[in-house]
Amino acid sequence: VVDRLAAPRESRIPFSVEFSPPRDAEAEARLWRAVRTFEQMRPAFVSMTYGAGGSTRDRTVRVTGDLAETTTLLPVAHLTAVSHSIAELRSMVGAYADRGISNILVLRGDPPGDPLGPWEKHPDGVEYAEELVRLVCGLGDFHVGVASFPEGHHRAPDLETDTKHLVAKLRAGAEYSITQMFFDVEDYLRLRDRVEAYDEEQGRKPIIPEIMPITSLRSVKRAVELSGSRLPSAVEKRLEHAAGSGPEENRAAVRAIGIDLATSMGERLIAEGAPALHFITLNFARATSEVLANLGLAAPRPEFASDAQASVLPRERA
Ligand code: FAD
Repeated sequence: VVDRLAAPRESRIPFSVEFSPPRDAEAEARLWRAVRTFEQMRPAFVSMTYGAGGSTRDRTVRVTGDLAETTTLLPVAHLTAVSHSIAELRSMVGAYADRGISNILVLRGDPPGDPLGPWEKHPDGVEYAEELVRLVCGLGDFHVGVASFPEGHHRAPDLETDTKHLVAKLRAGAEYSITQMFFDVEDYLRLRDRVEAYDEEQGRKPIIPEIMPITSLRSVKRAVELSGSRLPSAVEKRLEHAAGSGPEENRAAVRAIGIDLATSMGERLIAEGAPALHFITLNFARATSEVLANLGLAAPRPEFASDAQASVLPRERA
């Protein structure tokens, strides 16, 4: 990943996208439509989440492996420590390696059920992501990224302590971090400053900002609640005004603001020298593609004028 970010380029900042393992055949067809659309835009990498509590273990391995084997994309597999023993974590890393995946985003994960509830370490597992970074780095030639939190992680007592823990993950061998989604670019800039001030050397490692183009007020409120982050009140008011007071939110109006917001965040992050932009896609290509086109990072996609895109499954399952 860091090689891709550092590769010489004319002027465009790299971007990357996050997918999630699909639940059923219909969702899988949608994922692959998004994959094939983004593939043409040449993202630096694509990442695949690991379901809460390790719930999508097999699907994450299978689909990330398919990305590695049947596309030109560079896949990054997420791996969480929650609910896994060290033996299971080792075997997961082995399963990724067997499918040709060497880029892993190492995370602690949240407790199953209530992500904000009490954290319980697996009796034979690890307590913090830092230990999992050491474990994965010790297992072979893996390239590890970790999570960072512009607003601070919700379990950290303060921003300084959280910075210290992020730097510990970087010192343990992580080569970059991807942030949690945020909606105030100042939070990202302050995180970058804190890491640089705490450890100049680790501060040189890329902190990739994560952007979620909002397409639904209800979904973003839920996502923010589950991740323990915050929607700035000015943004929330704007979205609520657009959503209207009817029983169904005005999705088109909310979406227009979401695209506008993601575009202006992207512009500011580019101006501030972010190493790349990472987009949460929820396996849909349209909103992120619009933002990328607005930012000049990808050509506008005429096919979105009609939704008649063929599903392009990987060869062996088509
Ligand atoms: P850690 O780095 O272990 O930190 C957890 C908490 O412990 C923090 O408060 C930290 O400050 C504190 N801490 C760390 N080290 C120490 C120490 N030595 N002593 C005391 N306290 C310490 N979750 C999923 O389930 N699946 C995913 O695919 C997924 N992908 C994500 C992708 C990104 C980009 C991000 C930002 C998050 C993702 N998450 C995912 C959510 C993530 O698992 C949670 O946010 C989790 O609560 C924190 O994980 P972490 O790896 O940052 O944990």
